[in-house]
Amino acid sequence: MTPKYSKVAVLTKIGQPLEIQDIPIPENLEPGAILAKVDAAAICGSDVHEVKGEIPGFNWDKDLPMIPGHEIAGTIVKLGPGVEVDSIGEPLKIGDRIVWSNSYCGHCYHCTITHNASLCTQRKPYGFQSPKKFPYIAGGYTEYAYVFPGSGRVKIPDNVTSDLASTATCALRTVVQGFDRIGPIGYTDTVVIQGAGPLGLYSTAMARWLGAARIITIGAPEGRLDVARKFGADSVISVLETDEDSRVKQILEMTKGGADIVIEMSGAKSAFPEGLKMVRAGGRYLNVGQGVEYHVSISPYSIMRKQLHIVGSFSGTIAHYWKALQFLSVAQSRFDLNQIISNRYPLEDVNLALKQMDSFKDTKAVLLP
Ligand SMILES: [Zn+2]
Ligand SMILES: [Zn+2]
Repeated sequence: MTPKYSKVAVLTKIGQPLEIQDIPIPENLEPGAILAKVDAAAICGSDVHEVKGEIPGFNWDKDLPMIPGHEIAGTIVKLGPGVEVDSIGEPLKIGDRIVWSNSYCGHCYHCTITHNASLCTQRKPYGFQSPKKFPYIAGGYTEYAYVFPGSGRVKIPDNVTSDLASTATCALRTVVQGFDRIGPIGYTDTVVIQGAGPLGLYSTAMARWLGAARIITIGAPEGRLDVARKFGADSVISVLETDEDSRVKQILEMTKGGADIVIEMSGAKSAFPEGLKMVRAGGRYLNVGQGVEYHVSISPYSIMRKQLHIVGSFSGTIAHYWKALQFLSVAQSRFDLNQIISNRYPLEDVNLALKQMDSFKDTKAVLLP
């Protein structure tokens, strides 16, 4: 029997701790929806920005309360009418472990014409839904979660734990879509990765897995750089021991004129102009990390003169969730990917976990509701 209420950590006011509340679990599911018991909900860096009211596009006085959390792995406890298979046609049953995407409308320009649902104009993202509106429990920081009818859903491979799978559903799937968009990485390519958080670390492992000639990961603190080395970085540069000029100089020397591919995964305000200087002429620059709206000064001339290929990427589609899970399944024999997860917390300790993420003491905290 499914209980009537779910314990949920609710963001009620910016600057206040999240409140644990009992929120009703919908008795009836819409056609295509799924009810899941949340096995693991990872905390994303953007959750930390959300609880501080730093995500653009919201009116934080009017739009709260919200249930944060969008990195979720769960076990099916109830299938809505008509649900028989997942997004790639695999049969689904109660007890299966799944991950699911944001909800996409399936009929806008991007869903239909460009087939890039991450740009869906009517996308319903997890992490920002109200516990006051049906289906009440559409979020990550909750014992039970509602999978929207419009959400892609795929099964978790047997050899991937649920806590690791939860990290595939934002951090890794975002990396996967970014790598798809920037194009192939060849065995002669030098790759510079800005950032040693979950996105930077997964990018390091992915670039190594894909056969890059040389990988240099830039970030901090030392513990994260250590993981970067274990995930395949040939060299690491600490941002705590260098300044922008010395980092650029070091990269230009190490790569004899710049990296073939630079990947921005840090989110640091100064990272984009800095990374532009690290790309070689004719090289590529992938911008994924800049999740907060900063304004910086860059040289458009350098983009023209170096004939750079600059690509942005945001979020991912269910294809990228699926690929992310496959990556975890096969690549965990080569890298100890569990090192991404720095700590696990019960739902009640959500405020502590957020604080640890905010102060960079945790690389990736996972809630086990
Ligand atoms: Zn759409
Ligand atoms: Zn995220």
